[in-house]
Amino acid sequence: MFYCQLCEKETVYISRFCPDCRSLKHLILLHGDRVHEIVNEVLCRNHAKQNTKIKQEIKKEIENKEYNLRSSPKKNIQKAE
Ligand SMILES: [Zn+2]
Repeated sequence: MFYCQLCEKETVYISRFCPDCRSLKHLILLHGDRVHEIVNEVLCRNHAKQNTKIKQEIKKEIENKEYNLRSSPKKNIQKAE
């Protein structure tokens, strides 16, 4: 039993690549560097962009909680008791 040489998780018996990875390999052969460009631009965010995205999500969550606290003060007091 062998593992796919690309994803290293699917088992293969007579081929070096699993079916999914084989189709990826064909896309790379067809489109060349364009596949690498798309993967890098779309799937890979640099560290700064990741932090920005995390801060945006946290800010949104805090704003929603503040809005809920302001909109129903009685309800929240009852919950605290
Ligand atoms: Zn694979």
